[in-house]
Amino acid sequence: VVGGIGYSGYVLWDARHPPLQAPFDPEKKTIVILGSGWGSTSLLKSIDTDLYNVVVVSPRNYFLFTPLLPSCTVGTVDIRSIVEPTRFVTRHKSREVKVYEAECTEIDPVSKTVTIADNSEIKGSVDTSKIPYDYLVIGVGATNQTFGIKGVQEHALFLKEVWDAQKIRTRLMDCIETAGFPEQAPEEIDRLLHMIVVGGGPTGVEYAAELHDFLVEDLTTWYPELAGKLKITLIEALPNVLPAFSKQLIDYTEASFKEQNITIHTKTMVKEVHDKDIVIQQADGTLAKMPYGLLVWATGNTSRPMVRNLMSKFPATQKVGRGLVVDDWMRMEGSDDIYAIGDASASKYAPTAQVASQQGKYLARLFSQLAFRDHLEQEIAAMTDEEEKQSKLRKLAKAKNIKPFHYSHQGSLAYIGSDKAIADLPWGSGNVASGGVATYVFWRSVYLSNLFSLRNRSLVATDWIKKNVLGRDISR
Ligand code: FAD
Ligand code: NAD
Repeated sequence: VVGGIGYSGYVLWDARHPPLQAPFDPEKKTIVILGSGWGSTSLLKSIDTDLYNVVVVSPRNYFLFTPLLPSCTVGTVDIRSIVEPTRFVTRHKSREVKVYEAECTEIDPVSKTVTIADNSEIKGSVDTSKIPYDYLVIGVGATNQTFGIKGVQEHALFLKEVWDAQKIRTRLMDCIETAGFPEQAPEEIDRLLHMIVVGGGPTGVEYAAELHDFLVEDLTTWYPELAGKLKITLIEALPNVLPAFSKQLIDYTEASFKEQNITIHTKTMVKEVHDKDIVIQQADGTLAKMPYGLLVWATGNTSRPMVRNLMSKFPATQKVGRGLVVDDWMRMEGSDDIYAIGDASASKYAPTAQVASQQGKYLARLFSQLAFRDHLEQEIAAMTDEEEKQSKLRKLAKAKNIKPFHYSHQGSLAYIGSDKAIADLPWGSGNVASGGVATYVFWRSVYLSNLFSLRNRSLVATDWIKKNVLGRDISR
């Protein structure tokens, strides 16, 4: 009886539980979506599964709300609060969506198949497979740009994925605990407590800001003997941080960092990375060594190897660079059935979550129009009445006229520490720039409302309250 009540309760709340979804239809075209990030998840949310069979392939079986990832590196927000399983989206669909936790290793545009590999530690009887597609959407994001600088891959930590934030947190606490080891040499304490962030884009700035808050709000209480020795340095190759923000906000951020004792080295390039120090080239061209305990590398994006491999198959239209060249309909140049969105594409837009999610939503509409076009073409082919045929042909001409992607910029926000944020917002025909505590309240409300689910929103709100009342957890 309890099982029965439980089951009917489940059905009531969750009317599209997988057993109630329609199965794959061999008559329908199949869309394979690579990735479960901003672009792919937005497409998945909006795609009409009455029209297509849909397969998702991603090495992680969840969506990650990246804007709050820097907060996870110091425990302001818990990682579990900003992820949501991909199946949370697919269970609401009218037709079953196949979700494979695997990495796409190769795309064959001739046979229209993708090769996928099981990326988990536990392997079964098979670990590779081929999946056919009619349409392929590449939403695999990008990987970390290292410019081939020696030692970066081996010694630096990145900030892109859940495990990156976990590694940073572990390394940070490790440095602090090791610095506190009895009779530790003073110069070693200084090295271990020197936290360097390379890259003054939004990722580097937000990470430095979170680290600063952790130091001031928590470490001073828990490690009073060490807290005063902890140093944060931000290194940026250009003349200022946050090049994409307005001059007023750049100045505000730099002044605010100065107040927070975060040292900024602009016009400074990292040339080499060793296990305990980096070699920098300073503004005057001289080289210097800088010892560190923790090194976070945030110098932007480059395309993934699998994407580069695909580019090499289209030498006439694709050149190896930031991403796949696409037209205004997000279709990859050189192909009729491959689309690329978000950071995997090289469009005129910045690689942001805002762009990726709008592109995903746009593709869902485009695919509905393509299905309608196919349907009309089939109807016309079967028609004998000339008058009816002409009317359908006019409809078809309209259906073929698909509007290109249009990006609507909602503004840029960034957290800069000490309960302050900056915002560059489009306002009428101009821009409004604001920074400070009020902007921070705005930042919080925007992020809270943009979180993926009610579950995420309530967990993040609770994390923020918990941090204010109880402080952050300092265990590793
Ligand atoms: P992603 O979201 O990176 O998703 C890529 C997906 O592809 C992942 O699921 C990945 O597992 C999967 N994948 C990888 N390789 C393969 C493969 N071989 N086969 C199949 N799947 C694969 N943007 C903003 O607009 N606002 C912000 O505040 C903001 N904050 C950020 C903070 C941080 C710390 C970072 C790192 C980025 C931030 N961004 C922000 C940028 C934003 O996260 C990216 O632009 C966005 O994630 C791009 O979306 P995407 O779908 O292209 O890629
Ligand atoms: P980015 O490309 O925006 O910034 C990287 C910075 O590193 C650049 O300023 C570059 O000059 C610098 N750099 C490159 N090589 C260097 C070197 N050798 N030494 C020193 N500095 C070097 O990268 P990001 O900050 O990771 O952001 C990636 C994308 O994600 C951007 O589009 C960004 O807008 C978006 N993002 C947005 C937010 C937000 O809106 N709050 C937060 C994070 C990321």
